[in-house]
Amino acid sequence: MEELIGNNKVKETLQTMIKNQKVAHSYLFSGIEGIGKTLFAREFAKTLLCEEQKEKPCGKCKSCKSFAENNHPDFMQIEPDGKAIKIEQIRYMQEKIAEKPIRANYKVYILKDADTMTREAQNSLLKTLEEPPVYARILLVASNENKLLNTIKSRCIKIPFLPIEAEKIKQYMQKNYEMELSENELAVCAGSIGKALVMQELLPQYRQIEEIIQNLEKQDLLDVFQKAEFLYKEKEHILDLLDYMLVVLYHSKSRAKINAISYVEDAKQRILANSNYDMTIDYLWMRVWEEVHEKYNRC
Ligand SMILES: [Zn+2]
Repeated sequence: MEELIGNNKVKETLQTMIKNQKVAHSYLFSGIEGIGKTLFAREFAKTLLCEEQKEKPCGKCKSCKSFAENNHPDFMQIEPDGKAIKIEQIRYMQEKIAEKPIRANYKVYILKDADTMTREAQNSLLKTLEEPPVYARILLVASNENKLLNTIKSRCIKIPFLPIEAEKIKQYMQKNYEMELSENELAVCAGSIGKALVMQELLPQYRQIEEIIQNLEKQDLLDVFQKAEFLYKEKEHILDLLDYMLVVLYHSKSRAKINAISYVEDAKQRILANSNYDMTIDYLWMRVWEEVHEKYNRC
């Protein structure tokens, strides 16, 4: 757990529970995406299953080794099948959970993206949460807990995860990727290491957006379209890139650019509503450019 970044309070809470042998049957690890909830849940599971039964896994026993090799007989991680965790997956888990543990004192189940569970899946899981076998430990991991039934939530001990401090993200990216994040870049990460990692992969695209926005006043619309052409191919990451555009506009200190923020918000809505992608991008740049040039000319 020492290697996990941020959320020290969560670390302490989980370790104290283990130390005092007060581990509940079910937990809800809740917080924004990309802050290590699943990593924490896995480390917690490994600790529970470790033969040493201490505050952290020894890493050497049979249990720790098979956990690291992803074949621990008393552990299972359930993830969405397509977009959702389905009732069949919960039923399979329920069959397995009924069998006593083979190697450890516990059987541990992680439901990653538990908030994607269908309603039927949630109702089915509820039965297990209400009457879990003594040895069962169930860890729900969710970034949008509003999608979980209240009856599910009330059966779990909630472990709230906070966004990670900007300074820690900065150090992490420096150390692991030799990447110096600017203030704008840190702002768009909004406390999420996951977002910083996406950014690391798409850094040239992020920097290109920043450059276009910084030079909007000097460029005609055709230049802007040409320079922004790469966005047509970034459908998968467009929401992250648009979030970055928001941050750059917001920090631009130009009233026209700050006014243009609403067009980026509109574009995000259109993309979420599956509007024509290329048209949405074109329209966005057109409106942003017009906003800047209208004000610019008036001055
Ligand atoms: Zn161990």
